[in-house]
Amino acid sequence: MTAIHYLGVGAGPVGLATAIHTKLKCSLEGKKVSVILLDKRDTYVRTHGVRLEQAVLEQLVLNVDTISRSILSEEKFAMYKALIREYNAMILGLKGNRPIKEIEERLSAFAEQIDSLSTSNRMDDEGFKILQGPEYTVSAEKPLSSFITEYNPTIVVAAGGYRCAATEQVFGAHSVRRAFDKSETCF
Ligand SMILES: Cc1cc2nc3c(=O)[nH]c(=O)nc-3n(C[C@H](O)[C@H](O)[C@H](O)COP(=O)(O)OP(=O)(O)OC[C@H]3O[C@@H](n4cnc5c(N)ncnc54)[C@H](O)[C@@H]3O)c2cc1C
Repeated sequence: MTAIHYLGVGAGPVGLATAIHTKLKCSLEGKKVSVILLDKRDTYVRTHGVRLEQAVLEQLVLNVDTISRSILSEEKFAMYKALIREYNAMILGLKGNRPIKEIEERLSAFAEQIDSLSTSNRMDDEGFKILQGPEYTVSAEKPLSSFITEYNPTIVVAAGGYRCAATEQVFGAHSVRRAFDKSETCF
């Protein structure tokens, strides 16, 4: 089966949650997905509080009963079931007001766990890499198109937050700013 190559710009809360959710959901349907997330920041240091409501988080929960038994071996079925339960508990555990750094660290730790299952071949699947640092910044000097040429993705997801160069390069600066002017988040 052809793998889906997912390239995400931004490994903040939205970029991480979207990529993790997509990868797990596709895996349950027997689709192979490799994920690369780019982020201009080396580490998670922001400490402001973010309030996440239960109703929002519930939309990210995955239903273990939808796992397709026919495409998975007994061993993989059990592994996915345990992983999805752990994922759901982690997502619902983000409820309430907490430092953004904590949300990012919990999500990125889960992404690393998925990566280790992928690279050790326990998931019928490819890896989940978070590439962080100035060299992974989408900018006028290093535009999104150059990362697309480098990683050859099937799908590109821009989740770089407010005023991200990647989103501006696709939609234009003016329309992006106007769309986000009155909202705080899309998590
Ligand atoms: C003081 C304060 C209080 C807040 N309170 C709340 C609240 O109560 N509730 C709420 O929902 N929101 C709140 N927010 C907003 C909150 O920070 C955002 O909702 C949240 O960060 C959005 O997540 P995100 O992943 O979309 O974007 P971000 O958190 O901005 O993440 C984007 C990521 O993309 C990376 N990135 C950006 N541009 C590039 C690029 N060109 N190339 C590569 N990587 C890039 C960034 O380094 C970052 O890691 C608050 C913000 C502040 C400052």
